[in-house]
Amino acid sequence: MSTKLTIIGGGVSGLAAGIYAQMSGLESEIFEGHSVIGGQCTSWKRRGFHIDNCVHWMTGTSPNKEIYQVWKDVGVIGDGCPMIAHEYFLQVDIDGVKGHAWRDLDRMEAELLTIAPEDKKVIHDLIKAIRNFRNIELPALKPKEQMTFMDNMRLLWKMRKAIPVAVKYGKMTIGDLAQMFQSPVIRQIIHNYVPETYFAISTLYMYAMFSAGNADLPLGGSDSITLRMRDRYLQLGGKISTKKKATSIDIEGSRCRRVNFEDGTNVEVEDLICATDISVTFKLIGEQYIDKHFKFCYDNPEKFPVFSNLNIYYAVDQPTNDIPTMEIFNCEPYTVGGREVKTVIVNNFADQPNFAPEGKGIIEVLVVQYDNQYDYWDRLYADREAYRAEKERVAQEVLTRLERHYPQYTGKLTVLESVTPKSFNRFTGAYKGAYMGFIQTHLVKKETHSGILPGLDNLYLAGQWLQTPGGLPNALVTGRFAVQRLLKRKNLLHLFCTQKT
Ligand SMILES: Cc1cc2nc3c(=O)[nH]c(=O)nc-3n(C[C@H](O)[C@H](O)[C@H](O)COP(=O)(O)OP(=O)(O)OC[C@H]3O[C@@H](n4cnc5c(N)ncnc54)[C@H](O)[C@@H]3O)c2cc1C
Repeated sequence: MSTKLTIIGGGVSGLAAGIYAQMSGLESEIFEGHSVIGGQCTSWKRRGFHIDNCVHWMTGTSPNKEIYQVWKDVGVIGDGCPMIAHEYFLQVDIDGVKGHAWRDLDRMEAELLTIAPEDKKVIHDLIKAIRNFRNIELPALKPKEQMTFMDNMRLLWKMRKAIPVAVKYGKMTIGDLAQMFQSPVIRQIIHNYVPETYFAISTLYMYAMFSAGNADLPLGGSDSITLRMRDRYLQLGGKISTKKKATSIDIEGSRCRRVNFEDGTNVEVEDLICATDISVTFKLIGEQYIDKHFKFCYDNPEKFPVFSNLNIYYAVDQPTNDIPTMEIFNCEPYTVGGREVKTVIVNNFADQPNFAPEGKGIIEVLVVQYDNQYDYWDRLYADREAYRAEKERVAQEVLTRLERHYPQYTGKLTVLESVTPKSFNRFTGAYKGAYMGFIQTHLVKKETHSGILPGLDNLYLAGQWLQTPGGLPNALVTGRFAVQRLLKRKNLLHLFCTQKT
């Protein structure tokens, strides 16, 4: 059997779609607009240092979870794919008082009680909630419409301890949850680096997955995800064409017929998976196909905000073994795009060999950016000199705060690179540079998109926007789901994964 499948976009969702297509006996080709695959999950070199753009935590590293199987299928987890399991997710330092989100929840509870005995009751409830939330499961094996009654029952049974937590904390924001604690250290641990308007269960989820061993880090970082996926896809007989930026899709009746590329070429289409940022997909097929959900989101940005980062990378003139793997500390406020920032979020890559030359180190600072900051960088980009100067100003502001906090590194830090939300938008087409879905508020809730669009019979969608909150695991499973939907529509679902090698 040879069903030809065209995939636009070579990020995690597009690569996953390609791998499952090949594993099911389809003949597929991925067309990626950039010169490299990976999309947002990427890295590059600067002055001998390795800049890792993406992964800080990867859900799905526990064999007890469904998604583990998916990461295994695509070659990211399993034999010969070492993981780093940190002892703590992050360290918070507020005015010299340190607290951690430990993997060991007993240790976390004991430490938090020492820091804030006055918060005893809420600390106990928090730890209990995190513990029970470890049973939460991201359905990863079948799209929801293909799940049977028994599949749903099994899932509910697995999650039985997590459901009361979801009910109790379901309507709270991170800000609400943080306010329940008197200790500023614990408040910051709850805030983490996530917007405070996010549902509180996002924080519980993060720490629950981490403490369950379900959110570790691949050794080698983002590259070890995408390069392994690329190799797996090619080994299964898939084809990848890079520098193939799609500019439009010709539609006749209810079928996509042709994809046109910026270089003047085109490709005839039998079946098509669009694994581009969903806003790009709608540009390619035409505004008339934007479904109600996304139209409402795009038309009401104040109700559907997004967030992104300004990532600043610093070369360090010595190894950075004494900096925590992730730390958030409070600092003298500084401003980016009209937003006052009062903390520094540091990510240290010391346990990733080869990210820095021998005897050196590299650290990353994440500055959270919202819609307004995206607009700010977007406007500034029109004047490249001003854009560059502003990136440098912010990087220097942060540098002085890093030196104050880590005095042993004074004079040893140099700015390597600053990546703004505008950069993410320019390189991958990400809507407002966002790297997760819409901020999870009471309006967005848990959203799973059907992955198809009414009126288009041979188009399937993949990508992190289809399932809140987005991120790598959702990008991954939507690639798998797109292939399952395609096979189902063609009455070929029995072929799914039959060519597994
Ligand atoms: C700074 C940062 C940190 C992150 N940290 C984490 C983390 O710790 N954990 C986590 O789970 N997630 C994290 N993420 C999010 C994660 O990287 C993304 O959710 C995921 O990679 C999205 O994959 P995707 O396939 O849906 O989309 P994308 O990665 O955006 O892939 C879309 C692809 O389509 C291509 N494309 C776009 N337009 C066209 C066109 N016209 N023609 C052809 N190709 C086109 C793009 O170049 C891109 O390769 C982070 C992201 C960023 C940026």
